[in-house]
Amino acid sequence: MKGYVFHGPGQAAWEEVPDPDVQDPTDAVVRVDTVTICGTDLHILKGDVPEVRPGTVLGHEAVGEIVEVGADVRTVQPGDRVLVSCISTCGRCRFCREGMYSQCLGGGGWILGHRVDGTQAEFVRVPFADLSVHVLPAAVTNEDAVLLADIFPTAYEVGVLNGRVRPGDTVVVVGAGPVGLAVIATARLFSPERVIAVDLAPARLEAARKLGAEAVADAREEPEQLVADLTGGFGADVVVEAVGVPETFELCTRMVRPGGHVANAGVHGSPATLHLEELWIKNVTITTGLVDTRTTPTLLKMAAAGRLPASQLITHTFPLERIEEAYDVFAHAAETGALKVALGGPRREVVPVAEA
Ligand SMILES: [Zn+2]
Ligand SMILES: [Zn+2]
Repeated sequence: MKGYVFHGPGQAAWEEVPDPDVQDPTDAVVRVDTVTICGTDLHILKGDVPEVRPGTVLGHEAVGEIVEVGADVRTVQPGDRVLVSCISTCGRCRFCREGMYSQCLGGGGWILGHRVDGTQAEFVRVPFADLSVHVLPAAVTNEDAVLLADIFPTAYEVGVLNGRVRPGDTVVVVGAGPVGLAVIATARLFSPERVIAVDLAPARLEAARKLGAEAVADAREEPEQLVADLTGGFGADVVVEAVGVPETFELCTRMVRPGGHVANAGVHGSPATLHLEELWIKNVTITTGLVDTRTTPTLLKMAAAGRLPASQLITHTFPLERIEEAYDVFAHAAETGALKVALGGPRREVVPVAEA
């Protein structure tokens, strides 16, 4: 089969690799029908994630069909259409038993496209299949479902739930990329008074409006002042960081009200300054986290009920074999307007949010 193989910083190729097979009795092999590229894949390509060994197939988000299961797999069978979660779950270790699958001690956690071959291929071996894939309801399209592999649970768990969004809140989302936009969509499930999106790119701010942000702010034009004006000078109840650079994290801590929450969802590559000298007296709570995907069943129910505009984040689609071109489009989002790029899957017109 073919897969998108990492060969060290700046080097990857769509090339022939061995077909995956069942290695452990808890494995399944999935034929990949729809797959996406994540910002984390770009970090890997830049060399920011050194534990990824050259020769690894990238990718940790996919929808496909089970083609083979190991002897101990009980809950899925060949022919099932499934969502492959970005987090694998042994289900037995201390952290899995607490629902903190991201910290799995039994060989799970974020392993696909990281420590084992991932989903950007024609087939993928999925360890711990019983707990790491989700059978899809017929009402959920591949394009909606694939956004639930990583982007939506990350936004919902690490942004909205960690940030404790409540009815009537003012929620600020800094960074209107895929995760930030999914934060906007899932924060709105809680009936906030308003959501304010902050970004640099006009197209992303427009997408934020379409997903329900009542106000948007160019990050260069004093978003702190806008937030202060809209909240009687107090600041926002919840601020979600969805960029991952020191400046945006520090901006978030300046926009939160006393007693409010800053939820960091961005992936950071360098240290940020924590202004404890100003924050300690304001009763501010700051949370961090890697997604556990424990809410994926809930999000799938919401998607089946038509309550999650997941596939609206897909701006570009390509056949799987054109993945190198897809990476190019995704990596140059400022010029191409790309949010999420989907590969493979049944050909279907997807109306991008920027043009809808
Ligand atoms: Zn990801
Ligand atoms: Zn575990």
